Amino acid sequence: MSGDIATAMYYINRCSKCGSCREVCPVFSEMGGESWVARARVQLASAAIKGQINFSRRFMEIMDSCLLCMACVAHCPNSVRVDRLVLWARQEAVKRQGLSLIKKSILRNVLRYNHRLELLVRLLAAYRATGLRLSRKADLFPPVRVTPFRPHVKTLKKASLLVAYFTGCMTRYVYHQTGLAVLDVLSGNNVQVVLPEQFCCGMPALAAGDGQTVYELARRNVESIMKSGVDYIITDCATCGEMLKSYGELLGGDAAWDFSRRVQDISYFLAHTVDLRDPAGKLPLVVTYHDPCHLKRGQGVWSEPRKILATIPGLALKEMAESDRCCGSAGSFCLTHYELSMKILKRKVENIKATGAQTVVTGCPSCRLQIEYGLNQAGIFIPVVHTVELLSQVYSLTDSAAGITCS
Ligand code: SF4
Ligand code: SF4
Repeated sequence: MSGDIATAMYYINRCSKCGSCREVCPVFSEMGGESWVARARVQLASAAIKGQINFSRRFMEIMDSCLLCMACVAHCPNSVRVDRLVLWARQEAVKRQGLSLIKKSILRNVLRYNHRLELLVRLLAAYRATGLRLSRKADLFPPVRVTPFRPHVKTLKKASLLVAYFTGCMTRYVYHQTGLAVLDVLSGNNVQVVLPEQFCCGMPALAAGDGQTVYELARRNVESIMKSGVDYIITDCATCGEMLKSYGELLGGDAAWDFSRRVQDISYFLAHTVDLRDPAGKLPLVVTYHDPCHLKRGQGVWSEPRKILATIPGLALKEMAESDRCCGSAGSFCLTHYELSMKILKRKVENIKATGAQTVVTGCPSCRLQIEYGLNQAGIFIPVVHTVELLSQVYSLTDSAAGITCS
């Protein structure tokens, strides 16, 4: 996904140095100096490839301060993939200097093995249960569950489609309610779900420049999930969805390309692939929608969640300003660049507040966690939910009235 030197040079040569990216880069708008904008990252990557500069601490500080939000890419008149150049730089740095001990331990010794990841999650749950908070950042650690999401999946008598549900780490360990909603909505639309063994999608490793781990996780996911012979692979996580769709390009080969072509975000799947059952119940609620970067710019999915919300009787969508501006989460960025991330989040919270909405809806669990944190810090106590949770909620109103049950 991050590409080789030839691909990097292709994008570098496309940059006309026009500076349009300054208008949209959230990091530049908070930091203010030329070093922090996409254009500078392109020029730095160019100088590094030509051997004019080395992978110094300052060079990596600039490359590591990118959110990979792709706002610059969408706005660039020359379609320069700045995100790919940044990923290339991070991967090159790891090749030359290796990973730090902590990154190496987590990415190579934990993330690749589900049982070790579960153990880490249990330790995190135990830490949270003590009520101890070593820093303000501690609340940004997800409120993890002791037991991972292992639901009973209903077998349908005559399903129209068979899908594998890729839950992603956040639904598996944090937002079980999203997982249950996905299962309810899919079975309520006559779609049979299976949950084959699956591993982290690899995005944390990709963002850290650990190409080896990304490759290994992608290979294991393709091997395990393709065995289930499903029509589609569905995910509720914007970040996982974008990553899974890149496996074909990353691994090459028929199986990986076939895998990538079958991946659909849940909102895309409901809007395009199934004949979505209209809810009959009513949900009188004013909501606003936050577009995750990896869903709108990463996968071109932005009208679909709005279409789904529009099917819910009684629900009113009040659009926030800059709904597709990054919330500042960007995986572990909110922990490694806490102050900067909070400045970016503040603008998102202000935009949400201005709508007067009763609920925030989004399609990415990482954005959800970050927005929940920002709203709590600002004393705004409104729920943040996944699109599919509202659909499940309104279905359950009708189904319970009609005596229909979904497991
Ligand atoms: S990255 Fe795109 S928008 Fe930014 S300076 Fe280069 S050509 Fe212009
Ligand atoms: S990806 Fe986002 S943070 Fe990175 S340079 Fe582009 S606009 Fe800025």
